[in-house]
Amino acid sequence: MTRRSMESKAQALLETAPDAMVIVNSFGQIILINAQTEKLFGYEKNELLGQNVEILIPDRFASKHNAHRKNFFSNAKTRTMGEGQELFGKHKSGLEFPVEISLSPLETEEGVLVSAAIRDISKRKKAEEKFRNLLESAPDAIIIVNETGTIQLVNAQTEKMFGYNRTEMIGNKIELLMPGRYDSIHQAHRINYFKTPKVRQMGEGFDLLGKDKNGKEFPVEISLSPLETEDGLLVSAAIRDISEKKKLENQIREININLERKVKQRTAELETKNKELEQFAYVASHDLQEPLRTTSSFVGFLQEEYYGKLDENANSYLNYITQATERMQTLIKDLLDYSRIGRKTILQEVDCNEVLSNVMADLSSAIEATNAKISVKEPLPVVKGYATELKQLFQNLISNSIKFHKENLAPEITISSKKLPDAWEFSVHDNGIGIDKQHHERIFIIFQRLHNRMEYEGSGIGLSHCKKIVELHGGKLWVDSQPGQGSNFQFTLNKMEME
Ligand code: ADP
Repeated sequence: MTRRSMESKAQALLETAPDAMVIVNSFGQIILINAQTEKLFGYEKNELLGQNVEILIPDRFASKHNAHRKNFFSNAKTRTMGEGQELFGKHKSGLEFPVEISLSPLETEEGVLVSAAIRDISKRKKAEEKFRNLLESAPDAIIIVNETGTIQLVNAQTEKMFGYNRTEMIGNKIELLMPGRYDSIHQAHRINYFKTPKVRQMGEGFDLLGKDKNGKEFPVEISLSPLETEDGLLVSAAIRDISEKKKLENQIREININLERKVKQRTAELETKNKELEQFAYVASHDLQEPLRTTSSFVGFLQEEYYGKLDENANSYLNYITQATERMQTLIKDLLDYSRIGRKTILQEVDCNEVLSNVMADLSSAIEATNAKISVKEPLPVVKGYATELKQLFQNLISNSIKFHKENLAPEITISSKKLPDAWEFSVHDNGIGIDKQHHERIFIIFQRLHNRMEYEGSGIGLSHCKKIVELHGGKLWVDSQPGQGSNFQFTLNKMEME
């Protein structure tokens, strides 16, 4: 093969290389380059051929390079240039850029030449710098370890959190940074992690601890991410000191426990007070009945024997006494009934449809008298509850809806129910006189009425009965209403377990 054709073959070969290729003789003269070299350094081919290769190197390295080159030729073998150092190329414009260079000797008829493959690593350097900036500015301590658990890289936060210098950590085992008692278990976990590496929290559900240079332990949260690199699979661990968070959590837990204890204590106190009050109401109303009965019978005798025999004043006094006594009897009976709610009752399955038809039967005369229309939207549920009390509940609400109807308008009452997650919600909706918002709470208090007995009869105990019954079933009772717009009494009954 002629020298020319050899050269053109070599040239063709050089052009296939992805890197800039420069072939230099032992005097440092550039013999051959490829198009990549022209592009990378900004020279035309003829500007470089025959030139000293130092033209492509920043001046401050040029003299050293001369010596290195001589060295290379005396012991020529393939290797990367400047291992461990940062190398730079120099563009025709004088601009420098970071490069990686591998050198190989080429035996030719004209002696040994060296071929240098030059790669521009500006992009990689920039990416590395970006990565390093990110790492250093991260709020967490970030530690990168390899498969053997050896620390490869740490950031400034790691130094701060654990109190070691970078140099003390890099090359050491990661177990340095955790309490010794976890060593073996952590090693096992690490081996496992490398088998199925994915982004995840470490030790989900466990309390993790870090250990600083002074041996002080502190709670941490760690997230792990696998990192595929040229040096194999690495793991990056982002570590957050959660001492403050834990402290707060503990404080909140303590406050909650205290609060719960206080609430329990208060509830127990209230329950006792309630029981005492109920007991008092029961005993008082029960015991009051007897003297009242005596008063009422003697008033009866007086009426029978002396009515008309005394003067007119005495007659009307007798009438007042009789009326007041009767009224007091009703009040005391109501009170006694109220205090009896929930006494000696048993929980059973109650079909609300049945309850309702019994109530309608009992109220038939009032229904007929007012021409009331009562409709049930859908069949009502079967609930677990106290049968007598539930009947009373429906009866009171429906009889109120009938009683408080608008003048010249027949009562229309709709009863419906809907299922909630843990309860049934009922509604008794009427087209009656309605209730002003300011009274929505008051009407549920015992003996509270909004009208006098001349307008609507009653003693003001019906709704307080209802409230007590609903609460006995673990529910709530409330009203939606406006004057003249009808009323919607709603209540819930908890889905209670049979005892
Ligand atoms: P009473 O019916 O004996 O007056 P309640 O405790 O049943 O006692 O009711 C208290 C008050 O609430 C009633 O006096 C009335 O003013 C008002 N109220 C109750 N139900 C209705 C209703 N469906 N429509 C309008 N007002 C009502």
